[in-house]
Amino acid sequence: MDAAAFGEQHIAKGIGRLTKHVFDEAKGSFITTDKGVKLLDLTAGIGVVNLGHCHPKVSAAAAAQCSKITHAQVNVGFSSAQIRLLRELLPILPHPSLDTVFLWNSGAEAVEAAVKLARAATKKPNIIVMQGSYHGRTNATAAMTRSKTIYGEGHGPTMGGVFTTAFPYYSHFGAAPSTSANDLVNQALLQLKFTLQQQTAPSDTAAIILEPVLGEGGYVAAPPAFLHGLRKTCDEHDILLIADEVQSGMGRTGHMWFVEESGVRPDILVFAKGIANGFPLSGIASRRELMDRQKPGSMGGTYAGNAVACAAATATIQAFRDEKVLENVAERSHQLFSFLNELKASGSKAGSWIEDVRGRGLMVGVQFADPNLELESGNGAAGPVLLAPKIVKECVERNMLLLSTSIFDVLRFIPPLTITEAEMGMACGIFRDALEAVVR
Ligand code: PMP
Repeated sequence: MDAAAFGEQHIAKGIGRLTKHVFDEAKGSFITTDKGVKLLDLTAGIGVVNLGHCHPKVSAAAAAQCSKITHAQVNVGFSSAQIRLLRELLPILPHPSLDTVFLWNSGAEAVEAAVKLARAATKKPNIIVMQGSYHGRTNATAAMTRSKTIYGEGHGPTMGGVFTTAFPYYSHFGAAPSTSANDLVNQALLQLKFTLQQQTAPSDTAAIILEPVLGEGGYVAAPPAFLHGLRKTCDEHDILLIADEVQSGMGRTGHMWFVEESGVRPDILVFAKGIANGFPLSGIASRRELMDRQKPGSMGGTYAGNAVACAAATATIQAFRDEKVLENVAERSHQLFSFLNELKASGSKAGSWIEDVRGRGLMVGVQFADPNLELESGNGAAGPVLLAPKIVKECVERNMLLLSTSIFDVLRFIPPLTITEAEMGMACGIFRDALEAVVR
């Protein structure tokens, strides 16, 4: 049986999949399938291989660690791989108060760790999440996710004590894309006031968690005034502010962490994805004084802060510094934004469907005009359709991997941060061809 057919038969159907390709090898911005098809990867493993696939220094560091010690269990002793990582990681965290770290494996686990810490440290039960948020697919994080119902649907009941407030995103308010950031921030902060009056009292609320750039929920960057407003509310009510930078962190937005743009200090920072450039590693960083409120033994896990993943993360942070990755993000971001904005303003049919181009760095979203527009659907029946999934399909047919986001008609560009000028040019051309093919 062919590999893809074998996978279809024996791998859980609950995993939705963009393509039926079997990825075999990858280097930089390209993946090669088992059938020798070369794909331009604008997904970077969903924001994971920020330094490109199989970065030589990261792979070499992991390989070297493999013949030293692979498993140094954190509840048994320290590991020198972990200590080396912390020496590199602490200086790049967004605030010096974040001086204590707990490492785990996946983003969802790290979000759970943040919730446990917030509850233990404040002795309060409830968590406020943002409309449109994505925090994972485990029981607790599915309960905290507001981007789509699919993550919890049919799997309940999930963790309780989760309440929702608004994110300053125009689509959530049925507003026009041109609505000013100030208006959206004021609306969202007013909603937060109601959330604390009507849903969960401050005395019951341990934390407010947000993705500073809403990820799966539409690639919307929180305006600085919103983050400052959240910080103020948290300070007034003794509530912790958790920044889930799983997707927006590790250079993705052109800052090492997106909270640096506003200078707002989170009480807990959640990181994963890009931290080890493809090896499973995640964690939270917070103040020692908060972390010390957890009882020894209450945290940990068999693979937490695995030695090979830590070695890969150390090499990742060093490569960021040595290879001036953030400079490339700034240049390629400018290239991509210029292309998309020019296409939008071009007066062409394809461009006229682009409603909004947004994001930061190489976390870029394109929202299309009318999600309920009638276009010819693939099976000949006309009806309400979304453009983004159709464009994604056209891109895949042109050997480029691109992702959409949840419910609204939004595409996300999340390439390796090391993507070259020529590769980005190629990506822009494929995107334009795909869009033209869909709306022609
Ligand atoms: N938080 C955010 C913001 C994410 O983007 C993701 C993953 N897309 C997660 C949490 C969950 O991470 P993981 O898939 O590693 O559990």
